[in-house]
Amino acid sequence: MPNYNKITPAVAEQLRAAVGVGRFFYGDEIDPNYAHDEMPIYGKFMPEAAVDVESTEEVSAIMKICSQNKIPVTCRGAGTGLVGGCVPIQGGLVLCTRRMDKILEYDMDNLTVRLQPGVLLKDLAADALTHGLMYPPDPGEKTATVGGNISTNAGGMRAVKYGVTRDYVLALTVVLADGRIVELGKSVCKTSSGYSLLHLMVGSEGTLGIITEMIMKLIPNPVCDVSCLVPFRDVESCIHFVPKIKMANLDPQSIEFMDADIVTSSAAFTGNPIFPETVSNTEVGASVLVTFVGSDAEELDQKMIKLGEIAEAAGALDVLVVATTANKKAAWSARSSFLTAIEADTRLIDEMDVVVPVDKIPAFLIYIRALGEENGIRIRNFGHAGDGNLHIYCCSNELEEDDFKRRVKIIMDAAYTKCAELEGQVSGEHSIGHAKMIYLRESVGEDVFALMGEIKKVFDPDFILNPGKVCDM
Ligand SMILES: Cc1cc2nc3c(=O)[nH]c(=O)nc-3n(C[C@H](O)[C@H](O)[C@H](O)COP(=O)(O)OP(=O)(O)OC[C@H]3O[C@@H](n4cnc5c(N)ncnc54)[C@H](O)[C@@H]3O)c2cc1C
Repeated sequence: MPNYNKITPAVAEQLRAAVGVGRFFYGDEIDPNYAHDEMPIYGKFMPEAAVDVESTEEVSAIMKICSQNKIPVTCRGAGTGLVGGCVPIQGGLVLCTRRMDKILEYDMDNLTVRLQPGVLLKDLAADALTHGLMYPPDPGEKTATVGGNISTNAGGMRAVKYGVTRDYVLALTVVLADGRIVELGKSVCKTSSGYSLLHLMVGSEGTLGIITEMIMKLIPNPVCDVSCLVPFRDVESCIHFVPKIKMANLDPQSIEFMDADIVTSSAAFTGNPIFPETVSNTEVGASVLVTFVGSDAEELDQKMIKLGEIAEAAGALDVLVVATTANKKAAWSARSSFLTAIEADTRLIDEMDVVVPVDKIPAFLIYIRALGEENGIRIRNFGHAGDGNLHIYCCSNELEEDDFKRRVKIIMDAAYTKCAELEGQVSGEHSIGHAKMIYLRESVGEDVFALMGEIKKVFDPDFILNPGKVCDM
């Protein structure tokens, strides 16, 4: 790890002068929340200073000062990450983009929007709708920034039909570690123009540059939609149903998996038991929530009929149409609150966000449950069944923190090894941060991990951008 310098009072004054009044914070003035993200189990690390930036030029001025003084800079969006990505583990400066929250312009001929990185996902989604457009990526946490979504290549519930955040990024303005400003990509539909630094920047977690403006692709908003809940006796038959939906060419917008335990937690948390725990006196072991979109009701009716046929053949207990707008809203907000429901009744939490080939989901879930039982850790899981991305939560209210961490490490070590055996990857959408670095290294192997390190060096020779993250170990 390079030797970094501290932010002296003299450097603090330079940084304060680079931004307007009331946007630079030093020592005790810093918001204590900047020491962690939404997974505080990975440790709390206070920065020496923090700054709320408002423009590309300000970011450039700040990076020049930090680069000249060898001060680490950790970019922070809304701090909703789950791998310690925005946490300043080497101290230094936290550069927060939350005030860069302007949607700058729509291009209605090319169906794009230009915006700043601090715009919240929910604000972009709502604003696009007022133009008859949809921003397809739909990660669960709607108060994340779009800049954070790009930097983690966030996925979400509609990825099975529309893809992930990366698929909607056309162009980025990026400030490099030494303060230079570069433009990556253009507002075009395709390109074969050299190495795609644009795509390298997406998912780079603030380790290669600071994103200060972007052009994103939008699509016309689908006219109508319908959601159906398909309950099964057990996890295996539920998951084996997923590829059948795809093979039937039904092109679902989302296929979300939930097991019985998470449904119980969610009902207790929301006070609205929208997902049934028994159907015709049979206990539900697991369900999928499927959504279709289309241009008219007839098209959706056809899809639902077909879904009913394949569900029956696959042994489903029923197919429950989530009919009214109120029920649809309740079902999707219950699904979106799964993690919050876990957090509400759990003192100690750790998580993994593996992605495996869809047909390997049951094998992985059976394995992880057994690991949880062996090690005295409660496992909660749900996920994006359509793309094999599973969110596994290790939970305890009883254990001491050190004991919890020791047991969870045993589970994680074994689970990531199993994931590799099943040809899976370490993270489907939450990224690496500092929490999952060791597992990334094991998963990709020394050659690929070293190549990542070489790329980091080209962009950031002094390792001042978000040190100790992704491949910097
Ligand atoms: C309840 C809950 C549900 C969630 N559901 C999902 C989900 O369904 N799918 C999913 O993918 N994630 C999900 N997440 C995780 C989280 O919301 C995402 O990782 C999100 O993309 C983080 O955005 P943020 O603005 O909070 O970024 P932060 O947490 O502030 O930062 C995340 C990373 O991005 C970097 N970064 C942020 N902004 C910039 C920028 N402008 N330039 C360069 N680097 C930057 C940071 O340095 C850090 O490495 C969920 C989280 C919670 C708490």
